[in-house]
Amino acid sequence: IIKLSNVSKSFGALQVLDGISFDVHPGSVVALIGRSGSGKSTALRCMNGLETIDSGEIDICSHRLGTTVEKGLLRALHLDVGMVFQSYNLFPHLTVGQNIMLAPRWVKKSAKGEARERAMEVLSRVGLAEKFDSYPEQLSGGQQQRVAIARSLAMQPKVMLFDEVTSALDPELTGEVLRVMESLAREGMTMVLVTHEMAFARRVADTVIFMHKGRIHEKGPGAMLEAPSTPELAQFVGNGL
Ligand code: ATP
Ligand code: MG
Repeated sequence: IIKLSNVSKSFGALQVLDGISFDVHPGSVVALIGRSGSGKSTALRCMNGLETIDSGEIDICSHRLGTTVEKGLLRALHLDVGMVFQSYNLFPHLTVGQNIMLAPRWVKKSAKGEARERAMEVLSRVGLAEKFDSYPEQLSGGQQQRVAIARSLAMQPKVMLFDEVTSALDPELTGEVLRVMESLAREGMTMVLVTHEMAFARRVADTVIFMHKGRIHEKGPGAMLEAPSTPELAQFVGNGL
């Protein structure tokens, strides 16, 4: 459902992605790990068309992203690909329900009743059905991030990309967000996630990709984290980050 073929990307003189290739099968979970600056976020942003690539190809949900991406393609892409970031960016003056209904109403042109029903359903999936009429500031950080995930789910994406969605949260709030992601994985959602939560990656990911200096340094099942074959991954796992 996603295929990266020899993708490279530089910012000026800095090569951030250096010939990355990997596949994501429908219903599988791929975790991208690696040191700060290794290109994890850039890889996700390229998959979502937020950055254009310098060479190679990305196929995602039957859309082909090359070195240029047209606006129309981007619009179609964003109907199929959901992305959740570290910062949740909910509109503070709208209720939780209104935040979730916004894109289905205005992008998908869903009828109000239908959008409302779907919003309720996705809120239940993240365990927050009772917060429909609350405002974001009345929620904890973990709850706000779960709303952000629900907002993305409301568009019924075929794949979800997560970039360090728990990094801004206090440790006691990360668990509830990881549990939501784990249940999505179990329901069969195709997901690519960047995470520093090694235990989570080991347990939930079908494939873990260790990025190092813009390349895929090591790739394998979660168990690879217990027996790294390169010193770089051993050191990375050993440091806990
Ligand atoms: P982290 O774990 O800190 O989030 P990362 O693996 O996600 O790191 P990227 O955000 O992909 O790393 O960044 C890789 C490199 O590219 C970094 O050196 C970063 O400074 C640089 N970079 C990222 N985006 C841009 C940009 N828009 N313009 C210039 N340089 C950029
Ligand atoms: Mg990043």
